[in-house]
Amino acid sequence: MSLTVPPTPGAADQAPDARVHDVVIIGSGPAGLTAALYTARANLEPLLVEGVVDGGPTGGQLTLTTDVENFPGFPDGIMGPELIMNMRSQAERFGTRFVTEDVTAVDLDGPVKTLKTASGQEIATRSLIIATGAKPRRLDVPGETELWGSGVSACATCDGFFFKDKHVIIVGGGDSAMEEAIFLTKFAAKVSVVHRRSELRASKIMQERAFKNDKIDFVWNAEVAEIKGADGQVSAVVLRDTVTGETRDFACEGLFLAIGHIPNTWLFEGALERDGEGYLLVDQPSTATNVPGVFACGDVMDQVYRQAITAAGTGCRAAIDAERFLAEHTSAAPDDPR
Ligand code: NAP
Repeated sequence: MSLTVPPTPGAADQAPDARVHDVVIIGSGPAGLTAALYTARANLEPLLVEGVVDGGPTGGQLTLTTDVENFPGFPDGIMGPELIMNMRSQAERFGTRFVTEDVTAVDLDGPVKTLKTASGQEIATRSLIIATGAKPRRLDVPGETELWGSGVSACATCDGFFFKDKHVIIVGGGDSAMEEAIFLTKFAAKVSVVHRRSELRASKIMQERAFKNDKIDFVWNAEVAEIKGADGQVSAVVLRDTVTGETRDFACEGLFLAIGHIPNTWLFEGALERDGEGYLLVDQPSTATNVPGVFACGDVMDQVYRQAITAAGTGCRAAIDAERFLAEHTSAAPDDPR
């Protein structure tokens, strides 16, 4: 799902220029937008490169969420896309410029880092803040690719509407699975949560909400081994019992995945240090990566907290780290390419 962002003359549509920027940010979720706000207010004139989905900016995972009830400052909650739009407007108000294009390559060697975008433009910068987030994990079982978008989805908010009065399953036992299961009950006749263990990982409050919902039932100790369907529709899944190993067909008309995320770090493979799961490593408590002048914030470096508010918090830290780095490294440099 892309964000519907009104065009902003003179800012959002500007092409990157040939100069060396002080700060370039990749990623337009809460981490990237907060880093933009802080660096903009520090007069660093940040350029934020936001990825593209359906011709518009991605806005990160919050754009795939409905009510956000735990972002401080919104006592009645706020819709995820609206929260992102507000953050974007706030960053823009202080002079952040946006480039809506995917980054296809980076060169992080030397004092000036360069990014290449999908259209072939090059963007040069003295400091880089990476806020590329994470994407939903897939099951990698037979039928998943064939039926993706035709009954298999990782976004209940985007696709729930298509499952009016149907029986759908949601795979996963975390907060996302509970949230999406509850959301799906607005449309579906029945939602079965399929979880590979006998207890949920989700927070108690989310568990209670799901347990209380009459339209939700739970299939414990079960994993999806195959997704069956024909003519662009899901008809059943093969469930494998994780205790006995037995398999059985389970009829359903849609399958939603909520089994965690994979960090978007392929661009930095070989250039930046990552952990075993691909998350960028930073020199805690700072956001500095192993390459001087390159900072990481948000879900791309955090597999523990992964909240909008913690992502925004690390975005603020990255902005301050970048500002300090620039103050230390560029002010009196005789060969400053400015
Ligand atoms: P998560 O907490 O990592 O949960 C992922 C779930 O998927 C786990 O139950 C896991 O099972 C299961 N899983 C992983 N790989 C699987 C596979 N291959 N097959 C079957 N099941 C698999 O991810 P999340 O639910 O997306 O939440 C991420 C973070 O965001 C968390 O910190 C969460 O609290 C937060 N969040 C908060 C809210 C909210 O407060 N409203 C909403 C959404 C997310 P195991 O339990 O067996 O590992």
